[in-house]
Amino acid sequence: MRKPDPARDILGYLFPGRRRTRTEIAEALQIRKSTVGVVCARLLEQGFLQTEEQARRNNKLWINPRAYMAIGVQHKVDELKMVLLDAGLNVRARESYPLDSVTDEARVERILQGLNGLLEVRGPAEGRVIGLGFSDFIPHDIGTGMKTKSIWIPGWGDINIKAIIEQSLNLSTEVMRCTDAFSFAEHVFGDCRDADAFITVQLDEGIGISVYKDNKYLKGSTDIFGELGHVVYKEDGDICKCGNRGCLETIAGIEAIIKKVKENAEKGAYFRTEGALGDITLEDVITNAREGNKLALLSINEAAKALGNTLAVVVNVLGISRVVLYGRLVKAGKILERQVTNSIQQHCIYPLNQDTKVCLSSLDEFGSAMGAAFAVMHAYFRQEALRI
Ligand SMILES: [Zn+2]
Repeated sequence: MRKPDPARDILGYLFPGRRRTRTEIAEALQIRKSTVGVVCARLLEQGFLQTEEQARRNNKLWINPRAYMAIGVQHKVDELKMVLLDAGLNVRARESYPLDSVTDEARVERILQGLNGLLEVRGPAEGRVIGLGFSDFIPHDIGTGMKTKSIWIPGWGDINIKAIIEQSLNLSTEVMRCTDAFSFAEHVFGDCRDADAFITVQLDEGIGISVYKDNKYLKGSTDIFGELGHVVYKEDGDICKCGNRGCLETIAGIEAIIKKVKENAEKGAYFRTEGALGDITLEDVITNAREGNKLALLSINEAAKALGNTLAVVVNVLGISRVVLYGRLVKAGKILERQVTNSIQQHCIYPLNQDTKVCLSSLDEFGSAMGAAFAVMHAYFRQEALRI
């Protein structure tokens, strides 16, 4: 059991964004009012708390947003997305830093340069940085920051980014999967603010899920979690990157959608494009689908149906009736949302078939970085584990 620490308890109670009087704090935390008075006076003097201008007995107190900062990072193959968040959950800085797909030591150097650049953005009056949330795109050991394997960047699997950042920048660092980080962002800044439990689905080249409940994400006892893209959907389908045949990713991953359009357009199916058929992008496919092009619609619909049918299994198993989709495929909009909803209505048992709400995330590409920063802040103030 930890030692009683009324200052940490008061800060934890006021985070995020609560404004309360000393009496309310004492009642909520079951601490003597005189203790609350003494501790709050000290926190006010140190600049960690703020209060109303006018001195009244029942003044409300809140955390000084500028006294604490946290950094959130999303590590992508070609760039870093970084945010600096304050304790009032205001974004003080948002930056992208190019990584140009470099590997090994050069990559580590770039990451440290990017982070140092972000730290320099802080004004002299701003508070200390309490930690850094590093969200990544590949499975890794969350305790050590060591990855088990990276099929995206050769050599990256042997780099302990957590230890490197902690030593070089003297910042406590939490490593997490980008989908789990995105779940935090959805819960605090997105459309899942009112949901206690939800499933977050990333739809890019890869497909992964995060399961979020009561301010924590679910993790198993291995480095692997949420690999929805590698659930076998079609036994006689194409061979996947992972070596299995017919994984969901070979039908619903972005590369698979583009490949289907390309191959059939080359065989003569109609598809409108300004450039060569070999250069077709996801944006071209979505534009064509919106214009009613049959081949584009077929590719997206088949992808969304496979995705929806697989997600229906997840919803049935977990009994969680909120699903939020994010990632590049979400640009397909209603076409995607409708098809996934149809699958869930068809395949889930009652009442999940009618209660499950599927929505497209409205957060932008800084979502995972925002979530990682919030997670670090949350762990600091609430002193709770981030995962179940
Ligand atoms: Zn696979």
